[in-house]
Amino acid sequence: MIHAPVLVKEILQYLNPQPNENFIDCTVGEGGHTLEILQKTAPFGKLLGIDADKHQIDKARENTREFSQRVILINDSYAHLKEIVEKARFAPIDGIFLDLGYSSFHIEESGRGFSFLKDEPLDMRYDARNELTAEIIVNRYPEQEIEKILRQFGEEKFAKHIARNIAKERDQKKITTTFQLVEIIKKSIPGRAQSGKIHIATRTFQALRIAVNGELDNLKAFLPQALAVLKNGGRLAVISFHSLEDRIVKNFFKNNSEAQILTDKPVTASQEEIISNPRARSAKLRAVMKY
Ligand code: SAH
Repeated sequence: MIHAPVLVKEILQYLNPQPNENFIDCTVGEGGHTLEILQKTAPFGKLLGIDADKHQIDKARENTREFSQRVILINDSYAHLKEIVEKARFAPIDGIFLDLGYSSFHIEESGRGFSFLKDEPLDMRYDARNELTAEIIVNRYPEQEIEKILRQFGEEKFAKHIARNIAKERDQKKITTTFQLVEIIKKSIPGRAQSGKIHIATRTFQALRIAVNGELDNLKAFLPQALAVLKNGGRLAVISFHSLEDRIVKNFFKNNSEAQILTDKPVTASQEEIISNPRARSAKLRAVMKY
């Protein structure tokens, strides 16, 4: 299945791309949002697309072929935005946009252990050049450190139980697959708590993914750089997918005197979009204009 971009209409509304303007898509993915922006910035507007995953950059290159004269694609982390912009001599910048998290590709096809519904190696990296994997965290981190990760990044109530059982299990046998981990989680959560709305492994998998990729640190590093490189009057829009991310974005916008808030409340997807694209369910968009 091809990744369906979320909140497209809303992103276009807040970024308001015009002919010949330049934009940065910091998580270009398969190019869903980027293609929409490129249509609006013809004939000469340039687009800088960044993605940490080489596979996604290759996909984006394929999907934006007809605009290749106006597109620059870079396989790096948006946490390095300022350096990337300087190296590419990309200016002036009219708008910057970030669509956090993973793509359908990661869950459905990557084979990297992002999904608790597939039996795969515990990897969870977007960028294969990074050393840290979920397997390393689960097998080598101290039990207390794992507990902290599950609590902080997954808001997992049973973090202590799960961490303890991970530590017990790995003494017997190395934990290398997603299904091994799901079994441990099952053993750690009391039966009465197992019938909730979300799968019992959801929070643990989210927490490990955030830890492996340093997702919250990347976001915190990114926000001031984005405002710094934007031209005056330029716009910054961020789509987040859980409260930890949204809180960081909200507070940064609120406390930054250079940011004029365009979204009083976070913008969410319409019922219609949520039905056709489940990933839109938790999407929240916030946008600012630089003074
Ligand atoms: N907007 C895209 C989908 C983006 S999904 C589209 O419409 O097609 C999120 C993307 O962010 C994924 O491709 C993932 O590889 C990438 N990503 C995750 N962390 C990143 C980081 N630190 N720097 C750059 N890209 C990152």
